[in-house]
Parts: sequence; C-alpha cells; structure tokens
Amino acid sequence: MAGNTIVVFDFDKTIIECDSDNWVVDELGATDLFNQLLPTMPWNSLMDRMMKELHDQGKTIDEIVEVLNRIPIHPRVVPAIKAAHALGCELRIVSDANMFFIETMLKHLGLREYFSEINTNPSFVDEQGRLRIQPFHDFKNSSHGCTTGTCPPNMCKGLIIERIQASEGNKRIIYLGDGAGDYCPSLKLKESDFMMPRKNFPVWDLISNNPLLIKAKIHEWSDGEEFEKVLLSLIDTISTDEKSAFTSTYLKMPSNIDVSAIPKVLPVQQ
Ligand SMILES: [Mg+2]
Ligand SMILES: [Zn+2]
Repeated sequence: MAGNTIVVFDFDKTIIECDSDNWVVDELGATDLFNQLLPTMPWNSLMDRMMKELHDQGKTIDEIVEVLNRIPIHPRVVPAIKAAHALGCELRIVSDANMFFIETMLKHLGLREYFSEINTNPSFVDEQGRLRIQPFHDFKNSSHGCTTGTCPPNMCKGLIIERIQASEGNKRIIYLGDGAGDYCPSLKLKESDFMMPRKNFPVWDLISNNPLLIKAKIHEWSDGEEFEKVLLSLIDTISTDEKSAFTSTYLKMPSNIDVSAIPKVLPVQQ
C-alpha cells in the first residue's frame, strides 16, 4: 500500500480533456462575448461576469449542470483514479476552475468521495439563481506574493503545495498537471516526489526549458492511457520502496543478540 503518498491533480485538461470554463461558455453560446471581454479583466473575474451574462440571457443552473455532465473525459481516467485510491493514496485537487463546476463533474463521474480535498475558487448560487465565482486568493486586497510569473493573481498553486508539505510532513507527492499554473507547484516538489507534466502542454514546455530547476523526478504523459499507466507504475514503485525500507528496518539485528546462537555457515571447500 502506498499509504504515505498524496496524489495532487490539476483538473482541466488533466482529469478532463478540455477546460471546463471554456466548455461551459462555448456550449452555452457565449464564446464571442468571452473573447471580447478576455483582454479587459483577469480570467477568474471574467468567469463570474460570464455567469452573470448567461443568467441575464435566461440560462439556468440546471443548463450549466447539464453541460458539465457532458464534459469529455478519457475512458481510462476514472479507473486510474479509483485504482490510485484503492492502492492507499490520498487524492487531492488543485484547480483554477471553481467548486461548483468541479463538484458537479466529480459527482456525475461517481468520483466525489475519492478526493479528500479540493482547492479551487469558491462559488455559490445566489438568491437569483446566478452562479457567483470568487477568487481563491482575494487579489483585490493583496497579492499572494508569488514571483514565479506563471501564477494568475487569484491563485498560486505553489503556495497550496507548500501548505500541504507543511501539514503532511514527509509524505510523498505525485503531481499531475498541464497548465502554466502547474509550473510553480512543480518547483516546490522535493527529490522524493514525482512530477507528471502533460507532454507538449504549457507546464511541460516550462519544465523542458530548464529541467534542472525541478528536484522531483519527471515522468511525462500525453493521454488518458499514459495517465493511468504512468501514475499506477509510480505508485507501484513507491509501494515497493516502502516495503523494502520496512523490511530492512524490521530485519536489523538487535544489538544484544547472542551471536553464538546463530548457525554458522560452513565454509565452501576450494
Ligand atoms: Mg489544467
Ligand atoms: Zn506561484
């Protein structure tokens, strides 16, 4: 069992095949307005604004749920997540989407109870039935202070990883992600951790520019099949390591042992 392992997943383009924000906007026919407003405000504020626009156009929460329930996902991803959980790993999500989207999709996929923690932008349905999306980090009051240059103002995933490391001590982390926002947390991982960047996606490009900056072992993956294969083989490696570490400690001789009681090995005649 890999009981000392935490697997941290990004959500968009890692667990699911697309970006859930874009998916909802596109499926509800608001792509043009989204593209028009994108240069004028941060992504997180724009998503809250888009939910207002869609609500004004008469789109309901039920329609958003229906769209989220059709999100594309590779058929090996759900079995891979369930297998990682069955092998004793603790599973967490770190995502710049929002709680309503993620919980809706996880419930629909039958995965909600497999995750012990979801770190994402808070969201709620207000009394008019409009989805409100708020920043994970309230950047209007103060910056999160990260200077990596690849974190959006509303969320530094590196700070979340540091918080997990501080509270979980020496547990190993396997991190899976695709986006530029997954670069900062990959810089925080330690030698005993594993980074799984999605090949040819922004985080993979950033890591490839200078792989020496990453202390964790890097194992790339490109689709759901490799997501499953690489993740489960890393968990297997960790379990084998843990087992042999346990065995070598367990088999160490106590110092007060009576050596005369140990049967002598007969010397081989030359
Ligand atoms: Mg992503
Ligand atoms: Zn950061």
